[in-house]
This record gives sequence, C-alpha cells and structure tokens, in this order.
Amino acid sequence: MDHFDYVNGAMHVEQVPMAAIADAVGTPVYIYSTATLTRHVGVFRDALSRLADPLIAFAVKANPNGAVLATLAKLGLGADVVSGGELMRAIAAGIPANRIVFSGVGKTAEEMRLALEHGIFQFNLESEPEAEMLSDVALSMGRKAPVAYRINPDVDAGTHAKISTGKSENKFGIPYDRALVSYAAARDLPGLDVQGVAVHIGSQLTDLTPLEAAFVKVGALIEQLRGDGHDIRTADLGGGLGVPYDPSLPIPPLPAAYGEMVTRVTDGWNVRLMFEPGRVIVGNAGALLSRVVRVKQGAQAPFVIVDAAMNDLMRPSLYDAWHDIRAIHPVGQRATANVVGPVCETGDTFAMHRDMDVVQAGDLVAFMTAGAYGATMAGTYNSRPLTPEVLVSDDKWAVVRARPPIEALIEGDSIPDWVRG
Ligand SMILES: *Cc1c(COP(=O)(O)O)cnc(C)c1O
Repeated sequence: MDHFDYVNGAMHVEQVPMAAIADAVGTPVYIYSTATLTRHVGVFRDALSRLADPLIAFAVKANPNGAVLATLAKLGLGADVVSGGELMRAIAAGIPANRIVFSGVGKTAEEMRLALEHGIFQFNLESEPEAEMLSDVALSMGRKAPVAYRINPDVDAGTHAKISTGKSENKFGIPYDRALVSYAAARDLPGLDVQGVAVHIGSQLTDLTPLEAAFVKVGALIEQLRGDGHDIRTADLGGGLGVPYDPSLPIPPLPAAYGEMVTRVTDGWNVRLMFEPGRVIVGNAGALLSRVVRVKQGAQAPFVIVDAAMNDLMRPSLYDAWHDIRAIHPVGQRATANVVGPVCETGDTFAMHRDMDVVQAGDLVAFMTAGAYGATMAGTYNSRPLTPEVLVSDDKWAVVRARPPIEALIEGDSIPDWVRG
C-alpha cells in the first residue's frame, strides 16, 4: 500500500497535489512519501515480531538520499552498505555504527579502515583474500573485525539475471561447498572475530521457495560450523523481497508470509538474525514525476515523449523493468501508447504498447514504484542534470536534493591550458 491517491481527479502524495510540486520544482522529479516509508518499516518489523531482537539493516543502495535515511534512522533501522560512501552517508543520516553491516566483493583497505574506525556491527566477507586483507588492516589498527562470510548457496532466485546473486557462477560470496575450509582459515586470522553467516540471493524475488532453500542451507552450515568449534552468533538473511510493479501480475509474497517462513526455518538457530531489505521498504514509497513534452505519431501506436529519461530512471533499460505510468489528471480515456524519453538511445524506452491514460503535451505523468533503484542510479548522460528529490509528509514537502544547475556540469570539467592554446 502507498499514499499516492487521486483526490478530486488529481493525484496527491499524502495531502500534497503532485502538480504543485511539479510547478515549484520542475520536472522530472522524484517524490517520496514519509507515511509510506513508515508503513513499510512497520509492516516489515511486525512480520518479524516473533524473533528476538532482529537487526533490520536497510540496503542503502536502494535509496541513499539523506532525508530518506534519516527517516529510516528515526524508525530504528540500521544500514547495509556496500561502499565507504554509503557508510558515510548512513552515519551522516544518524544511523548508529553498531547497526551497520558492510557487504560487497570489492571493499578496499581504505574502506575497511573507515568502517573499523566507526566500529560497525559486521563485515560480510565475500572471499578468502578479502578476509586476509581485513585481518591485516584490523591488526594494524589494534582491532579485531567482527565478520561473517557471505555464502553462495547455489540457489536460483528465479528473478532477472542481472539481479540474481546466489548462483555458483555469480561473483558473490564464497562457494557453499568450500565454506568449512574458508571459515577454518578465517579463524586463524588474528585480526578477525568470526561471528556469523550471511546470504543474499537476489532482488525482486516473487517466490519464497528459493529464499527458504537458501536459509535451510544457512541453518545446516551453522550447525556444521558449531561442530567445528566456531562461535556463530549472527545470521544475516539478506534482502530481496519483491514488490508489486505491474498490477496485472500476482502480488509477490507479503512480508507477513516471509516473516512466517523465516520464523519457522530459523527456529532453534540461537543467533541474532539480521535482514537487509531495500526495495520492500522504499519501492512503493516513491514516484518519478514527469511532464509530456510532445506526442508523436508512431507506426503502430503514438510515442509519448516525456521529459524523464533513462538517465533518471534506468530500470526499464537495464532490466526491462515495468513501471506503472499514470496521468496526474486522468481524463478518463485509455489508449495504447509507447512512452519514451528524449535521450538518443533506443533503450530510452519506458514502455511499448502500453494501455494507459490518454495524455497530451504538457500533461503530467507519474512512474510509480520508483523509490528503489531510481534516483540512486541516475546519471547525467546526454548532459542532463541529476534528478532532484522531494520528501512529503502529510501536507508538508521539501526538496531533499536540489536539481543542480547545468553550470555545475560545465564547471565540473577543467580544460588544461595546452588545450585552450
Ligand atoms: C542489493 C542488496 C540488498 C537489498 O536487496 P533488495 O532486493 O532491495 O531488498 C541486500 N543485501 C545485499 C548484499 C545487496 O546487495
């Protein structure tokens, strides 16, 4: 459920008309709803209410905006970060270091040092050479790094290939069959404190079966590791729960069903459970608001050319992702159209042959469910400034990231004297 609703024929976010934001800030613009964020955190937490003190670490890469992170921090969430930059943004937004977990296959020594200085809760290691490097860095600082290995359970998540992470051919984690050897080696590294096991098999999962298969493997591994004398105190079950994008498809499993499955599968593990939800917290809490530049005749259907493009919302071109596209002031008629951006790439296509509200030049449209992996993936291709972001709460709203002036792009380059001549 979200808080983007029509009131008197005009889409509002909470109590704010979307058109008012477009008029004040211009388009394209990302708009986030605080009430939706709050609701999603509550639903996820309720789903895990039978677990003792779970750590819910929001996957910052889904939406690293400072105001969004600060909202989630106030609600008590931790953070799952995948770079030094994300770590610093999480801390700047008020997320305590003892609720931060650091994932990713390519952590550098510098990023490890930064995370150790702040005293984060856990490093999720993804290879043996990484374990060796972290041990060295920790020793050089007189510390011990709390670690888990991310295991690759060789489970097919059944999602888009570019967001599957738990198959043996993927770059993530250590091979399940080698885990006991890797853990034994890690125990001998003097800069590490081996405390847990982690797994994350992919994103936008629409079936609990592969998640359950992965968690069962984690449970079996915990038992084997304890048999080998390891003191396993944490199990990080990652993120990945899908959200509804296309209303004509079945709804992905709800957090309640996920929580029920987790509670059943992890019964008796005797660890602190950790979770890294991203999309399920922020996906439906955001929309990308855009204006129709013009409508152009196409061979089969008209092209609706909007002022948002693949640089603002990359998911359709990257993953063939489907976003619902709604008129802000629907006129009550529907027709088939192709929705495209102005960028000079055929991939700059949001929808082909889409049955949607009839719109014309000057009308506003919203790309729904754009709160996750939206603004965070934006770039400046075609020299388009980064998309601004707005946060709404009840009848209040604020720009939480301003649209940079085009001068910032130009002045960001420097032209050496020998080029100027
Ligand atoms: C991306 C990612 C997540 C979040 O995935 P969602 O599908 O957004 O829930 C969690 N953990 C890790 C390690 C990730 O890379």
